[in-house]
Amino acid sequence: MKITNSMTGKKEEFAPINKDEVKMYACGVTVYDLSHIGHARQAIVYAMMTDYFRYKGYKVTYVRNYTDVDDKIIKRANELGKNAIEFSGEQILETEKDMKDLHVTDADIKTKASEYIPQIIKFVEILIEKGDAYATEKGDVYYSVKTFKEYGKLSHRKVDELRNGVRIEVEEGKKDPVDFALWKSAKPGEIYWESPWGKGRPGWHIECSAMILNTLGETIDIHGGGRDLLFPHHENEIAQSEALTGKKLANYWSHCGLIKINGEKMSKSLGNSLSIRDALKMYNYEVIKYVLLSKHYATDMDIHDSDYKIAEEHMYYFYSTIKKMNEFIMANAGDANGKTLDNETLKNIVPKFIEVMDDDFNSALAISNLHIIFRDINNMMKTANKGNVLIVANTLAKALEDIKSVYKILGFFEQDPDEFISEMKEKYLSKLNITINEVENEITKRAEAKKNKDYETADAIRAELDKKGILLNDTKNGTTWDIKELYS
Ligand SMILES: [Zn+2]
Repeated sequence: MKITNSMTGKKEEFAPINKDEVKMYACGVTVYDLSHIGHARQAIVYAMMTDYFRYKGYKVTYVRNYTDVDDKIIKRANELGKNAIEFSGEQILETEKDMKDLHVTDADIKTKASEYIPQIIKFVEILIEKGDAYATEKGDVYYSVKTFKEYGKLSHRKVDELRNGVRIEVEEGKKDPVDFALWKSAKPGEIYWESPWGKGRPGWHIECSAMILNTLGETIDIHGGGRDLLFPHHENEIAQSEALTGKKLANYWSHCGLIKINGEKMSKSLGNSLSIRDALKMYNYEVIKYVLLSKHYATDMDIHDSDYKIAEEHMYYFYSTIKKMNEFIMANAGDANGKTLDNETLKNIVPKFIEVMDDDFNSALAISNLHIIFRDINNMMKTANKGNVLIVANTLAKALEDIKSVYKILGFFEQDPDEFISEMKEKYLSKLNITINEVENEITKRAEAKKNKDYETADAIRAELDKKGILLNDTKNGTTWDIKELYS
């Protein structure tokens, strides 16, 4: 298996520390508001990696944190007249709800900064003892960047250049502009914990170092997070942890690409930030996953509204095919003596999936393979004949089983096809301003007209529905209907 390592910038062969075991940590959400689609992508990507490693037989321990105390949280909590931890606790519940509604595989251990204060304090104390950190008179503690010779190795930056680039901020007692806070003394009205340096709270970076050490140990296999965290957050985690343990913090650094929306950077001030909750009001959760996994996890994405539309069409096509497969299998149940048709695509659903996922979790390719798979399946159903229906049915049953067995790793096909299809139909019908009843009444009228040999009326009804965006399909079991827009 190969995985991209941001430390080397290369795709590398994955070799775990302990055979058949993966220790993975991914930086989670700072909970001061509802989580957005960028958080969803990151959570979905590391859940996909976890599920795939498990599929391959690894025992995975996946840890994800919540930053539940920081400047933004304190500010927002103050505005609301709430205690910061009470407020962030509420936001964690909201995020948990959204992630559950998205059907994202949960981390095995979810940590909160506020629950690791003693471990954080201990960590900082050792860094001070070792000479890698210093406390100021005011009660702040800073990491002394110049003591860590390898600082900048992840982001490939040089400390001297950083020093020149840093704004001179008035921070009492800070010895070097590149030093960063491990512990912040409390301002009046701020939440605090008692510490050897007085009342205060942890800086942001130290929580991850302390949580990793206390949940997974000194060196982990994979450390993940959004690319925006690479510098300074991950660089600082490395400095803190490696100064403390003298060991490598992570063997593989993995970074998930960032998201733009309709060509613009997602930001609160632009008003284009899409919360997971709002996305779920508009789109089925598997449609959202389709969009987010349709590009390789490490690439940045520019998501346009049309991408959700396309994902809906594709998911609708997949589910409609699954429904047809189920019907075909039911109608042609019989003994095929275990025989299947010799089709290269369908024989290789599982090996192909493994091939692309082994190559740095290429979900984008796995999804495009799915189009080839369903195309072949539709062709096979169309060309089935009396002589081979039992074998075709057997081939389809095997293919469906294979599809479900691996594509569940992307979170696909968890739903009942009928339910998914009607949800889509209802959504698109409401846009067309017509109800299911109205469509079905028209179809009944048309059938009666045809029975009375009034083909003019029958054709007029078909044309009228077509104009409204409804497609009719006459089969030997009657007329079915569909939505034109879902086949653009
Ligand atoms: Zn972190």
